Amino acid sequence: MSEVRTRFAPSPTGFMHVGNLRTALYAWLLARSEGGKFILRIEDTDQARYVANAVEVIYATLKSAGLEHDEGPDKDGGYGPYIQSERKGLYRQYAEKLVESGHAYYCFCGKDDAEESEEIHEASALCPCASMDAASAAARVAAGEAHVIRQRIDRSKVSSFTDAVFGEIQIENKVLDDQILLKQDNMPTYNFANVIDDHLMNITHVVRGSEYLSSTPKYNLLYEAFNWEIPTYVHLPLIMGRDAEGNVSKLSKRHGSVSFENLVAEGYLPEAIVNYIALLGWSPKSDREIFTLAELGEAFKVSGLNKSPAVFDYEKLRWMNSEYIKALDFERFASLAKPFAKLEGTALESKWDSIAALLHSRTEVFSEIPEKIGFLVEQPEYSVELFCHKKSKSDVENTRTDLPELRARLAGLTEWNAENISGVLSGFAAEKEVKAGRPMWQVRIAVSGCAVTPGGPGEIMEILGKDESLARIDKALLKLAL
Ligand code: GLU
Repeated sequence: MSEVRTRFAPSPTGFMHVGNLRTALYAWLLARSEGGKFILRIEDTDQARYVANAVEVIYATLKSAGLEHDEGPDKDGGYGPYIQSERKGLYRQYAEKLVESGHAYYCFCGKDDAEESEEIHEASALCPCASMDAASAAARVAAGEAHVIRQRIDRSKVSSFTDAVFGEIQIENKVLDDQILLKQDNMPTYNFANVIDDHLMNITHVVRGSEYLSSTPKYNLLYEAFNWEIPTYVHLPLIMGRDAEGNVSKLSKRHGSVSFENLVAEGYLPEAIVNYIALLGWSPKSDREIFTLAELGEAFKVSGLNKSPAVFDYEKLRWMNSEYIKALDFERFASLAKPFAKLEGTALESKWDSIAALLHSRTEVFSEIPEKIGFLVEQPEYSVELFCHKKSKSDVENTRTDLPELRARLAGLTEWNAENISGVLSGFAAEKEVKAGRPMWQVRIAVSGCAVTPGGPGEIMEILGKDESLARIDKALLKLAL
């Protein structure tokens, strides 16, 4: 069997939708699992939609996701150029071959994509140019008349093909349109360039979203017209999102971040995103969920792909991300999380390692860090009611009596660290024969003003430092005295 060659063929739109990344991932996995090649091809024939830097975004995303390509614009494998606009000159000859063999025709009806022109080329409609005799059409072209080249569809037939995921597909040709292959400026349409390039680049497996399933018969008619071998199709299920009401629809911004860059900017780790999206439409046929990219490469099989739509579950991604965060070694966690903490220029910047130690096991997504540690930067306003806590038997009354004494004992500490601070609190509890949780709660509320904090009072006060901790306790005492 010939070498497996898959490709990722993004249109440079300026951002990478998770659906596109999943396509790239499966194409990459298929190539890797078969010892084949993964090719990157940029499909930029729609110049009107050109976005500056879009190609850089594609490189950066693939790199960050670990999906290294074997061939592409920056890595010649002998099939270049790998950017369609740079291949512009080669498509016309193929379109003309189709005109010669009767599988395409010159059309002079109007502008490229003008609606009125498209209507008469829709399914079952007939364009007058389709029946024009070849000699007069060729003469008009030779005279320099503006024209496009359209595919001639035999609408009396039925097309069928087998997709590796969706199985047997049958479509009546009468629903297909005489699509444009080559535009007036000689630029191919996406639909034409895609077929020509997949053939010229020896692509064996076409992995792409299921939105292309319905156009596939048109591609197959082109392969057949050229007498070329049709690649294996691997169409992927749709990715859906669920809104607050529980309704499911195609994943879009209203469900949450949908691009790789935005998810990373929110504080999801690339490895976690890749692992999560690998499971959106593919199953290892076991309960296992955590896979490194290399492990995915070993486990991946096309037969594990599923045709039913997959729902993007942000909660599940959060969970997976937290697992990846916990598994990071501490140094790496601290350096990746630091930019999110936004402590530059504050008194806490030098305490980052101690703060990071509190956060490491308690972070699901990096973007939640500022909220988690906001109380360290500035204590929020709080009500004395927060001193009431059933489980630790703390209330406003006993805090009024306990806190001055706790403050005095803490002020007497010569060495200010979490261990000594905790020692003061547990010593107090033992002496007074109260639950250790009581002084812990009282002091933690006094210094944080929050019911939930990463870390206990000892760790928090060590980070705040002695002066700030005592100043916060003084404020609490004033509050309690009112
Ligand atoms: N350029 C197409 C896209 O970005 C690729 C479709 C295909 O892989 O055939 O959706």
